[in-house]
Amino acid sequence: MVQLHFYPVALPCEFDFTISRGTTSVAHHVFVELTYSHAGKTYVGLGEAVPCEYYGSNQQSVLDFLAWVQEEKLLEAITPFDIQRFNHTLSQFHGHMPAKAAIEMALYDLLGQIAGQPLYRLLGLDAAMVPRSSYTIGIADLDMVKHKTQVAIERGYDILKVKVGGPEDLKTLETIRNLVSDDVTIRVDANAAWTPDQAIQLFPVLQSFGVEFVEEPLHPDASPADRKRVKEASPLPLLADESAHVLKDIPIVAQWADGVNLKLTKTGGLYEALRMIHAARAHHLSIMLGCFAESSLSITAFAHLAPLVDYLDLDGALLLANDPVEGVRWEANQLFLPNRPGLGVIKREVGVAR
Ligand SMILES: [Mg+2]
Repeated sequence: MVQLHFYPVALPCEFDFTISRGTTSVAHHVFVELTYSHAGKTYVGLGEAVPCEYYGSNQQSVLDFLAWVQEEKLLEAITPFDIQRFNHTLSQFHGHMPAKAAIEMALYDLLGQIAGQPLYRLLGLDAAMVPRSSYTIGIADLDMVKHKTQVAIERGYDILKVKVGGPEDLKTLETIRNLVSDDVTIRVDANAAWTPDQAIQLFPVLQSFGVEFVEEPLHPDASPADRKRVKEASPLPLLADESAHVLKDIPIVAQWADGVNLKLTKTGGLYEALRMIHAARAHHLSIMLGCFAESSLSITAFAHLAPLVDYLDLDGALLLANDPVEGVRWEANQLFLPNRPGLGVIKREVGVAR
């Protein structure tokens, strides 16, 4: 039986991080530790819950749910070899995806540690197939956009994801395009901010800036007719993010999207993300793994699936002022999976404010 421990953490961002829905200065998450004894040894598996108000969770709701899981003894019959059973048990309780993902990644961490293998190797994946990640530039005034772009150039990032849906989208993109060299790829994320007419008007301009693709242009409640109209008018590939959470969403977004951005906060864990990756392939969708501002704990957990996908946006830990966890290693925007057993993450002694 695994023993569950958890505690809140505060993760300050390097810069205020703004998207069309709001600003994050400090990310308030929850770390999970699962302790399990096997063959005379005791192992500790780590997990991180990344709550998101937009999807109905916050730090307190994660803490409350984990306390309830503990009270109800829902992990009593669960070992690290029972990840399917864990997911089946928890799927009876609606929502709480960040908390479910945190426990599940800690189970995978234990599984890999017991097997003595990194998670990607347990899954039979090829670490050499990890694509480069984008680095995200949030909505800001033009001086701040310039500063962040300079920082990105100095760090050698050659794929930028630009958040739009603010008042100065075109000036922002023009500023970035003029600062970076032609071989820097620019992706755009509207975070569901545009009306269909706005999107259709902006697409040709985005194309002239050499934008590679656009993420979630319309509100998730946009009508199928509007989505069809926007898809038909778009010269650029469209990726679904806010409108694709779990497996059942894949065939729906495949009607208007060319790709899908998966996040553990939406899927509730790696197991569901794996199912979605295969379903997305069957629907001829490209696949991105995404994140919020989060530590290298959850980033590294998700990165173990990176060899299966086309695009990464796993820069969450690069957006923090202090990363409290050591996990994936970066050379510019190429990440390297750790070769330690399990998730391969190590908590640093400093930097975790509770
Ligand atoms: Mg997005």
